[in-house]
Amino acid sequence: MARKDIVVLGAGIVGLCVALHLQKRGRAVALVDRRGAAEETSFGNAGLIQREGVFPYGFPHDFGALARYALNRTIDAHYHPSALPRLAPFLWQYWHHSRPGRHAEVARLYARLIEHCVTEHEALVAEAGAADLIVRGGWMKVFRTARERDHRFAEAEGWKKDFGVEHVKLDARGLQEAEPYLAPVLAGAIHWTQPIRTLDPNALGQAYLRRFEALGGEFFQGNATTLAAEGEGWRLRTARGPLEAGAAVVALGPWSDVLTRALGYELPLAVKRGYHMHYRAAGEAVLNHPILDVEGGYFMGPMRRGIRLTTGAEFALRDAIRTPVQLGRAEPIARDLFPLAERLDNEPWMGARPCTPDMLPIIGPAPRHANLWFAFGHAHHGLTLAAVTGRLIAEMVTGEAPLVDPQPYAAGRFAR
Ligand SMILES: Cc1cc2nc3c(=O)[nH]c(=O)nc-3n(C[C@H](O)[C@H](O)[C@H](O)COP(=O)(O)OP(=O)(O)OC[C@H]3O[C@@H](n4cnc5c(N)ncnc54)[C@H](O)[C@@H]3O)c2cc1C
Repeated sequence: MARKDIVVLGAGIVGLCVALHLQKRGRAVALVDRRGAAEETSFGNAGLIQREGVFPYGFPHDFGALARYALNRTIDAHYHPSALPRLAPFLWQYWHHSRPGRHAEVARLYARLIEHCVTEHEALVAEAGAADLIVRGGWMKVFRTARERDHRFAEAEGWKKDFGVEHVKLDARGLQEAEPYLAPVLAGAIHWTQPIRTLDPNALGQAYLRRFEALGGEFFQGNATTLAAEGEGWRLRTARGPLEAGAAVVALGPWSDVLTRALGYELPLAVKRGYHMHYRAAGEAVLNHPILDVEGGYFMGPMRRGIRLTTGAEFALRDAIRTPVQLGRAEPIARDLFPLAERLDNEPWMGARPCTPDMLPIIGPAPRHANLWFAFGHAHHGLTLAAVTGRLIAEMVTGEAPLVDPQPYAAGRFAR
């Protein structure tokens, strides 16, 4: 029987960072996953650590956008009509928290975490010796119309003033100089200069795992749903036999509610699924920065494996059949913008972003269990906020002064 101070359930990027931060503070930590490290949602994301991401993605409130989404033909969002009855309570709350005034309040709370995302990852990257997986130099939002460009330029000015988000505005010519292989159909871009990115999110996770193990942490394969209270602490089954720990952290990403529900918590969680596909860049073409084609509704960035095209939100049940229609719609538009050659993957990859309706992650103590902690619900920014989350949880567990006030992210706002 293995005995540890604390067990972290889920070895996605969030669980990895939590485990690493706890182990660094001298706790004996077990990290448990039914698969390997960073093999699910944290495997295939766009790789951005988004210092500019101060406004979490809200539910649209203008009638034109709602009408477009209702037709279910857009690229940036897609839904399974059959899932709507189950998703309706979540969507209603999400819509409510996305009202402009409330969204701005949410952003103020969110920005306190986002502010530290680059510095916290850079510290872990340095310790893990993973600098070769990281690229500095930011990313770009590109625009097809002057109207959208000017609207977003004004928005960026506001984010700079309110949240210290840096950017460079590019007109069509400036963008062509920065990205000479993009078709000359764009009206300009915002270059966010502070974000960093990884060329391989899975490899970054593996590097964090190696660092965790080098510090004495232990990885176990096992099923988190076997977790049961044992005295003051917890016990679960792993492939190497039973494991006991004084405390547990739930970091199961989009599967977190499977366990929290079994423990008696009704948290309003849902997922936004997303897909990726890699392509070879044709000929000598080079994409210097990742780009979000704002009006096109897809994202494309240079990764280790090739150009990774990623899709926006698919509202569906987590385990419903895969329907990569957004990828199919985005691909021809992306090909017109940048010379993509053949697909490099046999099948599109799919991940499920774990979402809360108020767009804030759940980080902190479980409301009704001692020695139980929650770290999930990071939606579009789980990679971005993983290192900050890891530090916050570790500081709360060990009683250190936290980097930021953790109260707004506590599960108690949803469940007592
Ligand atoms: C297309 C796409 C693009 C994205 N781009 C970005 C981006 O550029 N930047 C960014 O910050 N975020 C991005 N995201 C979001 C980000 O990927 C997620 O927020 C993040 O990966 C969530 O990490 P996690 O550790 O919470 O969950 P996961 O990575 O899903 O980890 C959960 C872990 O729990 C394990 N698990 C589940 N059930 C059990 C069980 N019963 N027992 C044991 N283990 C279990 C799983 O195997 C998994 O390893 C993107 C997401 C998608 C889909």
